[in-house]
Amino acid sequence: MSHVMNTYARLPVTFSHGLGCRIFDCAGREYLDALSGIAVSTLGHAHPKLVATIAAQAGRLLHTSNLYRIGEQEQLADKLCELSGMREVFFGNSGCEANEAAIKLARFYGHKQGIELPTIIVMEKAFHGRTLATLSATGNRKAQAGFEPLVSGFVRVPYGDLEAIRSIAEHNKNIVAVMLEILQGEGGIHLVDPAYYRGVREFCDSQGWLMICDEVQCGMGRTGKWFGYQQVGVNPDIATLAKGLGSGVPIGACLAGGRAAGLFGPGNHGSTFGGNPLACAAALTTIQVMEEDGLLDNAARVGALIRQLFGEALAGVKGVREIRGQGLMIGIELDRPCGELVSKALAAGLLINVTADSVIRLLPSLIFSDSDARELVARTAPLIREFLAA
Ligand SMILES: *Cc1c(COP(=O)(O)O)cnc(C)c1O
Repeated sequence: MSHVMNTYARLPVTFSHGLGCRIFDCAGREYLDALSGIAVSTLGHAHPKLVATIAAQAGRLLHTSNLYRIGEQEQLADKLCELSGMREVFFGNSGCEANEAAIKLARFYGHKQGIELPTIIVMEKAFHGRTLATLSATGNRKAQAGFEPLVSGFVRVPYGDLEAIRSIAEHNKNIVAVMLEILQGEGGIHLVDPAYYRGVREFCDSQGWLMICDEVQCGMGRTGKWFGYQQVGVNPDIATLAKGLGSGVPIGACLAGGRAAGLFGPGNHGSTFGGNPLACAAALTTIQVMEEDGLLDNAARVGALIRQLFGEALAGVKGVREIRGQGLMIGIELDRPCGELVSKALAAGLLINVTADSVIRLLPSLIFSDSDARELVARTAPLIREFLAA
């Protein structure tokens, strides 16, 4: 029996190495990776520039602590602010930590204005993480069950419903922020009309609230722009990053601008590992390669190609509800639960995911090529057709 705590229903495979968009199991079998460790491996596996950066940094300095200035962290903060339009960055090690920082920042903002019980509006089907505060912000009852009491200070509205937000403002004077994913990931690849996000932004401005975008999954170029909010023409006060930021090296970031900048002082927040030289060097190289190799444009183009090819391959197939997404964040919604497709795909040498019971989710690396896209669709579409015909 394994001594690893039983928190995942793991697939029966162990990988030994990867190269680009391919990954190999311990028996030497090759798989096409259309998941990237859940939107993490931005540059694919074993990217030579990232490997060189990590090796060189490990040979120089891994860790010092935030008791001292860290050059790589300052450089990364500069770069992220340049790309995002934000003003300052706090570094942690994961998505939930980035969101914890965002939630603390919003509460701090509220207290500074004399609001004693600051409350954040969150969305149905949202996913923000597994720590107590981020679990409480998450809109999935199954994930919360058994962990009550949840953290207070959140109210939930249907995603895409601006009226629901407006009506809360009328009777709840404790609201300090609205928190959302521009493109919901775990919830099933949901994107609503861009006018909604602009409406949220305007309403937050009119109320003096912060707009918080959880960009942990849809950020870092995945949709074809650096950040999801740039797709819909808004600038949030707080944006959080993790997953793809270090292309496999754990790092999270909470970016603040607008009314959220300049709030924290020494002692208000911290992290032992957060923003250490190794993680920041990996993120800097990830960004550098993304820029040099035009990976944002690649994500937009290859993502559109994948959706188009699936549209053709699955045209008229009964049971396919919708093919949607943006860039390399793609969902194929079926009319029935389809979790078993994951192991069928694995057996066929493909790494894919299913979320929200009935949505096939594809999150390939940003280096995915046109021919990878053609191969992915040519090999996956028959599995979907077969599954739906059974
Ligand atoms: C994965 C994810 C998180 C949580 O990130 P962890 O690194 O697992 O803590 C938070 N928000 C979104 C949108 C995510 O996709």
